[in-house]
Amino acid sequence: MAAPSLATGANGTDLPRRRLWPAFGLGALALLAVACSTTSKYYDPADPHRTRTGFRNNYLAGPIGGSFVKWQWERIIQGLPKPPANGYDFPVVTPDVAWLQANRSETTATWIGHATMLLQVAGVNIITDPMLSERAFTVQFIGPKRKVAPALTAAQLPHIDVVLISHNHYDHLDRDTVSALNAQPGGPPLFLVPLGVKDWMAGVGITNVRELDWWQQTTVPGLLIDFVPVQHWSARSPFDRFETLWGGWVVRTAGTAPAATMPASAADRVTSAATPSGGTGRQQSSGGQPGRDVSQQAIAESRQAVNRRQQETYGARQVEIGRLGADKSTQHAAKPFAFFFAGDTGYSKDFSDIGARYGGFDLAMLPIGAYEPRWFMKAQHVDPAEAVQIMQDVHAKQAIAIHWGTFELSDESLDAPPAALAAAVKAAGLAADRFTVLKHGQMQRF
Ligand SMILES: [Zn+2]
Ligand SMILES: [Zn+2]
Repeated sequence: MAAPSLATGANGTDLPRRRLWPAFGLGALALLAVACSTTSKYYDPADPHRTRTGFRNNYLAGPIGGSFVKWQWERIIQGLPKPPANGYDFPVVTPDVAWLQANRSETTATWIGHATMLLQVAGVNIITDPMLSERAFTVQFIGPKRKVAPALTAAQLPHIDVVLISHNHYDHLDRDTVSALNAQPGGPPLFLVPLGVKDWMAGVGITNVRELDWWQQTTVPGLLIDFVPVQHWSARSPFDRFETLWGGWVVRTAGTAPAATMPASAADRVTSAATPSGGTGRQQSSGGQPGRDVSQQAIAESRQAVNRRQQETYGARQVEIGRLGADKSTQHAAKPFAFFFAGDTGYSKDFSDIGARYGGFDLAMLPIGAYEPRWFMKAQHVDPAEAVQIMQDVHAKQAIAIHWGTFELSDESLDAPPAALAAAVKAAGLAADRFTVLKHGQMQRF
């Protein structure tokens, strides 16, 4: 009976509500107008990915997804995802906690679950997208619950020196986990985050943070660390889409990167965003080239200003992080090593750009899950065949699969990605051990 009373206004309590709705509507419109008229604080006409309304991908013409409602409706009708063939009983390896905590010399990679990897390189302990919580709270996925416990608790982790965050989606940036890491015994780690995420970190009380734009580099003792473009997006609510940046991380032992591909300066790095194969940055900055029109010249000059600003911020800055500052003895004997962590991504030309720029990696950590249905996921999440192509594009000797087997985020079964990956590796004519699927908790030495 509520509907007729609303229609007729016979119920006294309905009339005020009817009067209020237009007010709410006007308020919402006003808020929307404010939101739409607010220029991103990162807007820079010289940087194509820093638009007036937020960040954007390098090579994506269309939208990042499709109708979320249509997808949700279809998966309900089709009963997707189907549970894995053997239930959710994934094999788990118990890591050697004492060994990991003591190790400062060997290069290792341990899959903790989802996109969370522990890397030990040049005596530095690095964790990627740390997510140890029970649920990844998102407005889209209604808080997916993890199906496999993290292989290591925060207390079991070795002292973490560097945290790499790829983007702010809930399954990659988890408040409780980063807070626990920030409170670890021995002092907080250094958090490296995409542009725009530093404010969120400050909001949860984390201040040992550096935020980077695409192609920018920072250093910690023993390592060069670059933030690079991938194809994805960001949001922690329906109202902050594209407001913060997303990307992947390139980590190389210092002094071992090939001279030809090591960025010479912040200016070179930033101008190379338009031509990531490198080498053209200084030409662009020199100006006055034949055939260059006025607008190109203006962009080049504006870019120079950006370069100067970023060089001041990031140029050759060395920060002592925790115990590393006092104990660099292990770094002298550090084995040369380079890895690429992709975070979340769709397939794009960004990866051949990264391959051309850095010349190759010992290891690439690439997502293989959350890819169905393709019409909705393709722009934002690669499927296993595309992950194999990325491994080749970035010239990785080996890849390790991430972003599968932990949270049920999409329509394929949670155990489907490894089988699809094996088929894709075979179809590409590659040896099976080029693209490794670790068990939860499994460690590989390099
Ligand atoms: Zn994401
Ligand atoms: Zn994700």
